[in-house]
Amino acid sequence: MSTKQKRFILPEDEIPKYWYNIQADMKTKPMPPLNPKTKEALKPEDLYPIFAKELCQQELNQTDAWIEIPEAVREMYKYYRSTPLVRAYGLEKALGTPAHIYFKNESVSPIGSHKLNSALAQAYYCKEEGITNVTTETGAGQWGAALSYAAKVFGLEAAVYQVKISYNQKPYRRSIMQTFGATVTASPSMSTRAGKDIITRNPNYQGSLGTAISEAIELAMNTPNCKYTLGSVLSHVTLHQTIIGLEAEKQMEMAGEYPDMVIGCFGGGSNFGGICFPFMRHTILDGKQTRYIAAEPASCPKLTRGKFQYDFGDEAGYTPLLPMFTLGHNFSPANIHAGGLRYHGAGVIVSQLLKDNLMEAVDIQQLESFQAGCLFAQAEGIIPAPESCHAIAATIREANQCKESGEEKVILFNLSGHGLIDMASYDQYLAGNLMNYELKDEDIQKNLNEIKDM
Ligand SMILES: *Cc1c(COP(=O)(O)O)cnc(C)c1O
Repeated sequence: MSTKQKRFILPEDEIPKYWYNIQADMKTKPMPPLNPKTKEALKPEDLYPIFAKELCQQELNQTDAWIEIPEAVREMYKYYRSTPLVRAYGLEKALGTPAHIYFKNESVSPIGSHKLNSALAQAYYCKEEGITNVTTETGAGQWGAALSYAAKVFGLEAAVYQVKISYNQKPYRRSIMQTFGATVTASPSMSTRAGKDIITRNPNYQGSLGTAISEAIELAMNTPNCKYTLGSVLSHVTLHQTIIGLEAEKQMEMAGEYPDMVIGCFGGGSNFGGICFPFMRHTILDGKQTRYIAAEPASCPKLTRGKFQYDFGDEAGYTPLLPMFTLGHNFSPANIHAGGLRYHGAGVIVSQLLKDNLMEAVDIQQLESFQAGCLFAQAEGIIPAPESCHAIAATIREANQCKESGEEKVILFNLSGHGLIDMASYDQYLAGNLMNYELKDEDIQKNLNEIKDM
């Protein structure tokens, strides 16, 4: 019987006290977000009407590598952090690979995903500034659930626009948000101008994160003492998620290994950046050879088939222009079950890193992702979120590569969430009702042509 350690946890006083801001160390800094009207570089003040001030400062901070985590946020982190780093012996055995596979288990947070790491921080900064209400959008419902709970913790009211397809496919996430005391509306809705416009053009539209973002921003701009919050894409969100990689760095040390590859699924880039950036710091500063692999859905392939250019972060064009890999803000992704990955663009930091070849991206078809998720569930006993299945699929590809070459590589991936509230999706997969989506080059090009001159 082997007595090898399987699970690595940090003592409470080892939980990091600072987030890591990779912008400070990047040789080529991300290009600035632009004011869409004047095309001038955005200043933090320009974002004050939408976000809490401290978050606007963090968003554009390119000088401070370390940003202190407020004590009240750290105290909340202690309820579920450190999250375990686990050696996936079961998966290694099932694959017959010589690779050493580790995963960081963010599914153990009270709401079941990494999203709470940023929700607590954002709610805290809003409260500090005297804000009373927060709005947001949610895809699969993970961000909405995280914000609803975080808002309750810090005594704020939350209003959430949930992408219509998820609202219908994942009714329990709605119940979860409502249980935490939030108001939930299916998007597109008739309650905003942005929602009305889209419903008028396309009455059967099942919604997208882009539309829901437009609706939530509109509500925030029209409501006094109300701020908008975002669960992905923006640099301050990824900053908060670096707690994942900072812990993992210490835990890998406990395990006596260092990753050759770090892998995360990719929606807007927050969990991917969260686990990768603390390791990438050593690549940038010390030349450490590590591969960073983002796993995106083949039906929404902004990193592998999109274009790097300025584009809006939302469909209605309320956000600043962001320099990013994008499929065009009018791109409407297929109705895949990984709702949290159905977003047209990528964050500005990861976009710059991809452009500079500091990271790679792979696209994964829906069936491969669920197949990987089922194998992982059977080998490790955890049912992964459909989003996380993409990271698992990319990990399995690499582990199989190691099997072929006989290389004993160390792979670390982020298990961004569990899938226990996504069983309707698994049901459909098991019943053989899910399919892959082939996206034609013409369709991608059509959307990109629309944003050519931005
Ligand atoms: C939201 C979500 C994602 C995608 O968002 P990122 O910002 O790209 O991390 C991935 N996994 C889960 C479980 C999510 O809830």
